[in-house]
Amino acid sequence: MRATVIHAPHDIRVEEVPDPVIRRPTDAVVRVLRACICGSDLWPYRGESVVEPGSRIGHEFLGVVEETGSDVARFAVGDLVVAPFVWADGTCDFCHEGLPTSCPSGGDWGDGGTDGGQGEAVRVPFADGTLAALPADAASDERLLTALLALSDVMGTGHHAALGAGVRPGSTVAVVGDGAVGLCAVLAARRLGAGRIIALGRHQARTDLARTFGATDVVAERGEAAVEAVRELTRGQGAHAVVEAVGTEQSMRTALRITRGGGAIGYVGAPHGSGTAVDLRHMFDRNIALRGGLAPAGAYIPALLPDVLDGTLDPSPVFDLTVSLDDVADGYKAMDSRTALKVLIRM
Ligand SMILES: [Zn+2]
Repeated sequence: MRATVIHAPHDIRVEEVPDPVIRRPTDAVVRVLRACICGSDLWPYRGESVVEPGSRIGHEFLGVVEETGSDVARFAVGDLVVAPFVWADGTCDFCHEGLPTSCPSGGDWGDGGTDGGQGEAVRVPFADGTLAALPADAASDERLLTALLALSDVMGTGHHAALGAGVRPGSTVAVVGDGAVGLCAVLAARRLGAGRIIALGRHQARTDLARTFGATDVVAERGEAAVEAVRELTRGQGAHAVVEAVGTEQSMRTALRITRGGGAIGYVGAPHGSGTAVDLRHMFDRNIALRGGLAPAGAYIPALLPDVLDGTLDPSPVFDLTVSLDDVADGYKAMDSRTALKVLIRM
């Protein structure tokens, strides 16, 4: 079969690799229908994180179960499934507590000899603990299939941010970051009943999408000017719930400065030097909480799936470019240059 392989920064190739086979009785093999490129795939692409040359890449995919190990009980050949961005056993304390990202038996796609998601098929470890079942008829609905793919990562991550920020009915919410996760956080905040949603971002196509997702206000400024703009919109108080979906020092500083006393920040932007931005004295004086981290996307699928299926939650517009597997390198280029928001790979 063919799969995406990264050899060096900016060197993404589609290569012939061994077909996946069942290695353990808890494995399943999934034939991939749709995969996508994540903002975090750009770190190895840009050389910001180190990878072994020749590593498989991709951690968001959905497809059809092609083969199951003898211990797989929840899935059968032919089932349509979506995979969250980590695999996990589904049986340990962390999995039971809804934190599969901390599963001691789990791991990242591509690690430990597992397959990456950007390929024609994937061996899925702990299929029962990892995969989520989807209704079979979704496979013939292109928009729905695209929306369901977002459950593998960005929609669950946006939801995690909104929960971490403590969004409640009537809350004033601010979202720092106009990438796919920030936009999904806008959707999540609206779903949780936010009264007002202020989207911070500089790219008009993206902030326009934020408005269609439920943002009531857009702040295009950055840094101090952004802080002032949010304060002006909130009677000088700031927002009850702030989502930080970038991970840089500046974005975390902005998030801290626009959080109202007694409020909380839900941070899901993977930290890029933002640790130094956390001013504990500022947070202490104002009773500001900081929650979030690596989103347990798989644990949120049962809650989010019904809303995606009935159309009340539709993250599909975050995918603004579709490529074939052969053209996956073009997809990386488009996301790296920010000409694409999020790239869908159609097998
Ligand atoms: Zn576990």
